[in-house]
Amino acid sequence: MALERTFSIVKPDATKRNLTGAICGMLEAGGLRIVAQKRIQMTLAQAQQFYSVHSERPFYGELCEFMISEPIVVQVLEGENAILRNREIMGATNPADADAGTIRKVHALSLGENSVHGSDAPETAAEEIAFFFSGLELVG
Ligand code: ADP
Repeated sequence: MALERTFSIVKPDATKRNLTGAICGMLEAGGLRIVAQKRIQMTLAQAQQFYSVHSERPFYGELCEFMISEPIVVQVLEGENAILRNREIMGATNPADADAGTIRKVHALSLGENSVHGSDAPETAAEEIAFFFSGLELVG
């Protein structure tokens, strides 16, 4: 398997609690390399566009408001099977269901405020990386 890249977000509940470094450490310990990273605060329009796949879901408004409530850290992660590996390191969406030692089990507050986002497939990873990073920000 060749090196793969995925997109990751340290969400507002985690940046607010100063957990960015702790989460980066868990990603690195899990075998992923942070190859691009920046701290930003999304506009409501950007959050709505990023989560447009969920626009019909009842939690869409709450999710978008949460995602703009504090700065976030957006990242590109690289490694063998990075998309799947990151999902393993993150744990299940609901921290109550997440395996021990995963980011969400250790740090998430709730199903909504669950500390991290990670792409779920190669197509979404490519789209999400391009949504936040220009080619100039991505080293080869
Ligand atoms: P994941 O982030 O694990 O890929 P989803 O794509 O299903 O999960 O959902 C995107 C995000 O929306 C979740 O990470 C979580 O923050 C939020 N979310 C999902 N389901 C709910 C829900 N039932 N109530 C509130 N927020 C939710």
